[in-house]
Amino acid sequence: MKVIETRFDGYNFRSRLEARYAVFFKYLRTPYEYEKEGYKLNGGLYLPDFFLPEVSLRNERYKSQAGFENGVWFEAKGRSHTDKEFKLCEMLGEYTRIPVILCEGLPDYTNSLKMFEFWPSWDQGMCFMKCFRCNKIKIEFLESSYSNCSFCGHDEDSMWEHSDILSAEINAKSARFEHGVSP
Ligand SMILES: [Zn+2]
Repeated sequence: MKVIETRFDGYNFRSRLEARYAVFFKYLRTPYEYEKEGYKLNGGLYLPDFFLPEVSLRNERYKSQAGFENGVWFEAKGRSHTDKEFKLCEMLGEYTRIPVILCEGLPDYTNSLKMFEFWPSWDQGMCFMKCFRCNKIKIEFLESSYSNCSFCGHDEDSMWEHSDILSAEINAKSARFEHGVSP
């Protein structure tokens, strides 16, 4: 069975879910690159779905300790990931020194248990946070004590409920692509 590609924002996406994530990033007002670059890793060829150049993982202290680069790889899956996929994500992170995030299902912070950090550490229960003051976006463990911004120092609860995040989630879920209607 051939999957119909979904066109949005100048890209042809392999799946509706990927296109919905593109809508999500658009409304989050953060740039994304789709299928930026493929890698030949030990476990096989790997082409990550998205690269988010202006999104950081956790805070600056975590970054300097773990020694990784700016930006994150972002993988969208319509089902549970396999062990092999997890291993590939780990290898991708090791090789590129860029954090690797995988999310199963639609963007939804209330479903944070489906959002994983695979590299540099393994964690689950991740979400997008956007600073209410400087608008910097990070991927972080969903917990009040981490709801702060290491760029401008702003500390405010529920950064995962920034209006851009909520509107991005709604638009990603409700976007219709059938008749060439772009959200
Ligand atoms: Zn800030």
